[in-house]
Amino acid sequence: MAKIILTGDRPTGKLHVGHYVGSLKRRVELQNSGNFDKIFIMIADAQALTDNAENPEKVRQNVIEVALDYLACGLDPAKSNLFIQSQIPELTELTFYYMDLVTVSRLQRNPTVKSEIQMRNFETSIPVGFFTYPISQAADITAFKATTVPVGEDQEPMLEQCKEIVRKFNSVYGDTLTEPEILLPDNQACLRLPGIDGKAKMSKSLGNCIYLSEDPDSIKKKVMSMFTDPNHLRVEDPGKVEDNPVFVYLDAFATDAYFAEFLPDYQNLDELKDHYRRGGLGDVKVKKFLNNVIQAELEPIRKRRQEYQKDIPYIYEILKKGSETAEAAAAQTLSEVKSAMKINYFEDKELIAMQSAKYHDAE
Ligand code: ATP
Ligand code: MG
Repeated sequence: MAKIILTGDRPTGKLHVGHYVGSLKRRVELQNSGNFDKIFIMIADAQALTDNAENPEKVRQNVIEVALDYLACGLDPAKSNLFIQSQIPELTELTFYYMDLVTVSRLQRNPTVKSEIQMRNFETSIPVGFFTYPISQAADITAFKATTVPVGEDQEPMLEQCKEIVRKFNSVYGDTLTEPEILLPDNQACLRLPGIDGKAKMSKSLGNCIYLSEDPDSIKKKVMSMFTDPNHLRVEDPGKVEDNPVFVYLDAFATDAYFAEFLPDYQNLDELKDHYRRGGLGDVKVKKFLNNVIQAELEPIRKRRQEYQKDIPYIYEILKKGSETAEAAAAQTLSEVKSAMKINYFEDKELIAMQSAKYHDAE
């Protein structure tokens, strides 16, 4: 069976370091591994509109920002197919048919939908499109016959729901759709990077992000103002590293090589953590190190982005070509789906022959 990747991001803002460690970095590694037959990377504008219906300009503006962030991180259009969701009408059609296989109560039980409804204060006024977005995500994944979906932890319930739809579809209409596997980051800290405010998730919608394209001064300000252990008041005090965002970020980013380069008094993160726990290590020192590490990670990304920014029409060209390729793949799946569901009237010669025989026999 072909090995196919599908993943994507909502164009609701520029991409941040949570996206980077949770999914983007891995995607680039997978792309360069040469182990995959096809890679589809989707800018999910239609999904972004489900909770931004009154703000189409925001979504429109951010499509190019996300594309620039992709290219800056090393996604290569020669190896990965970058496309825009709304340009593939087959995805909407698949969503409509999958809706018949999912109950309202099942959607209500989806933990990510639940928490996102709460986060957006949608409790009493959920747009239907937003409520059903797990179904549209199942359409996105299955349209490309994806076997592997590299995402952050918040997407786990979506993948579960997608698998259920695949199983249900195949059992009702015959083997047609491919069941995908989620690919989560190996590093625990990258599953769900917290915000700089200490909130559980760095998220564009919460405004607690360090963006990949952010300038060095602004990154430094954000890092130096980050949340730490609230009980670590004086340098001598013992500190807590668990759930301390500064240490979670170091878990996500700090390699031994960064210690050798920026903080040679310590060999590795374990030594630094031990010192913090014992007391005698100030937050400022740790934050300065974290700032150096993040600056080192983001500098090459920012530089590449600046190069791509010089030719915006070329970026749209990449997305247009990618969307054409993606549409061809989705059209093939849709045709298989319609045939399995017996709604392919004009291609089904047998059906036409059978129906005409019925009336001729009656004569
Ligand atoms: P929005 O607030 O509009 O939902 P978002 O910041 O949550 O935006 P998405 O576009 O929903 O970003 O997510 C894109 C991908 O990045 C998904 O695979 C998601 O799991 C991953 N991701 C998002 N935020 C984080 C995070 N803080 N840590 C790890 N992975 C993340
Ligand atoms: Mg999200």
